[in-house]
Amino acid sequence: MIVIDGKGLAKKIKEELKLEVDAIRSAGGKIPHLAAVLVGEDPASQVYVRNKVRSCEQCGFGSTLHRLPAEATEADVLELVDQLNRNQEIDGFIVQLPLPKHINEEKVTLAIDPKKDVDGFHPVNIGRMTLGLPCYLPATPNGIMEMLSRYEIETNGKEVVVLGRSNIVGTPMSVLLSRKGNPGNATVTICHSRTKDLEAHTRRADILIAAIGIPEMVTADMVKEGAVVIDVGINRVDDDSRERGYRLAGDVDFAGLKNKVSAMTPVPGGVGPMTVVSLLMNTLKASKGIV
Ligand code: NAD
Repeated sequence: MIVIDGKGLAKKIKEELKLEVDAIRSAGGKIPHLAAVLVGEDPASQVYVRNKVRSCEQCGFGSTLHRLPAEATEADVLELVDQLNRNQEIDGFIVQLPLPKHINEEKVTLAIDPKKDVDGFHPVNIGRMTLGLPCYLPATPNGIMEMLSRYEIETNGKEVVVLGRSNIVGTPMSVLLSRKGNPGNATVTICHSRTKDLEAHTRRADILIAAIGIPEMVTADMVKEGAVVIDVGINRVDDDSRERGYRLAGDVDFAGLKNKVSAMTPVPGGVGPMTVVSLLMNTLKASKGIV
C-alpha cells in the first residue's frame, strides 16, 4: 500500500512557493500577504492559525494575525473584516471558524470581499467553483485535488464516494471531482448521516473520501479491495498514555485497512498539511490578481 504523504508533499510545495516568492521579491513585485483573524481561545483553532502563520513565514509570505477576545462583538469582527477588505497590503484573509456562538458566521463570511476570500467559503466563490470559473477553491478539497494530481491517482471515470456533505469539505469535494477536468470526470456519490446502507455505497468506491468527524468509523469490511482512501477526519480521542491526554484519529481505521487498499492518507500527516498549503496557493493567486 502507498501511504499518501501529505506532510512531505506539503513541504515540497512550500519549497516551490518559496522559490516563486523569492523570484517575485527579486523582481520587485508584490509579496503575497495573508491575514488571519482569530476570535477567542479555542485550542484547536489556535493550533490551526499558528500553523497557517508559520507556513506563510516559511514561504516568504507576509502574514498578520489579528486576535480578538472571546467576548468581541459581531460588530467588532465585521469592522475588522471591513478594514481588511480595504487594506491594499493584504491580498487575502481568513476568519478562523468556529466563531463564538454569539457571532453569526454566515454574516461574517458574507462580509468578506470574494476577491480576498482565500478560504473559498463565500457564496460567490462556491458559485464560481460550481460553474468552473476562476475562483478560490475551498482549502481542504483543493488540497486533496492537488494530492490526487501529484500522486497521479486516476479519477477519470472512477466511482468516487464522498462521506459527509459539509459546505467546507464534502459538498465542494463532490463538485470538484465530478467536474470536467483532471482530477475530475469521476462519477460521484455523496453520502451523509441520512444515507441508508452506507456500506453498499462505500464498497463500490474506487476512491473513498471520508469527511465525517467520527473516529475510525470506516472499517475494512466497508471498502473495496485496492481502493484509494482519503481520510479528512481529525478527531481527538482520549488517550491516557499520551502526555497531552489524547491522540489524533482520522475517520478511517488506518491499521485495519492498510492490507486491503492500494493507497491511503494517514492522520496526522495526510490531508491536514495540504489544507494549509492550499491556503498559501490561494494567497499567491490573490496577490497576482488572478481571481
Ligand atoms: P461536519 O460536522 O460539518 O460534517 C460532517 C458530515 O458527516 C455531515 O454532512 C454529516 O451528514 C456526515 N455524517 C455524520 N455522521 C455520519 C454517518 N454516520 N454516516 C455518514 N455520514 C455522516 O464536518 P466537516 O467540517 O466536514 O469535518 C469532517 C471531519 O474532517 C472532522 O473530523 C474535521 O475535524 C475534519 N476536517 C479536517 C480538515 C483537514 O484539513 N484535514 C479540514 C476540515 C475538516
